[in-house]
Amino acid sequence: MSQTGKLPVVNCEGCGACCFHMGYPAYVLPRDPMTAAEIEADPVLSQRAAKDKRFKQDLIDGHPGESHWHRMPEDLRSQWQTHVDQYQQPDYDGTVESLDGPCIWLDMETRQCIHHESRPNICRDFKADSPGCHDWRKHYADRI
Ligand code: SF4
Ligand code: SF4
Repeated sequence: MSQTGKLPVVNCEGCGACCFHMGYPAYVLPRDPMTAAEIEADPVLSQRAAKDKRFKQDLIDGHPGESHWHRMPEDLRSQWQTHVDQYQQPDYDGTVESLDGPCIWLDMETRQCIHHESRPNICRDFKADSPGCHDWRKHYADRI
């Protein structure tokens, strides 16, 4: 029987619910710091930066890129890049169903991450038995 609801979640075996809408592994990539003028000159970034101060500050600060991105084998990084280059964002209508589908690294049969050792920080930080874990398991209760 599936473990859903308030039962403690002891491990991720046979689940994968938090990967069902991720689309692809979400790395924080290396990016150079930007000046306020450069952000202003970019029509897309400036629009978002005007509404989100944290986003703007992140652009100004830049980022060295997360460690697992740098440690990942080159061929895997290149596969990831090809996928992202061809990626088309779905029309998000406010529902979970309109998010990206399962992560490209999720094996839907085993429900395991096929490149677990290279997974990004966002996946490492997401813990079994956390409130978010329970939320996703509840949402996908018919699939786990
Ligand atoms: S963290 Fe929770 S939702 Fe994600 S795979 Fe593990 S048990 Fe499932
Ligand atoms: S990289 Fe692995 S752990 Fe992260 S969303 Fe994809 S399948 Fe899940």
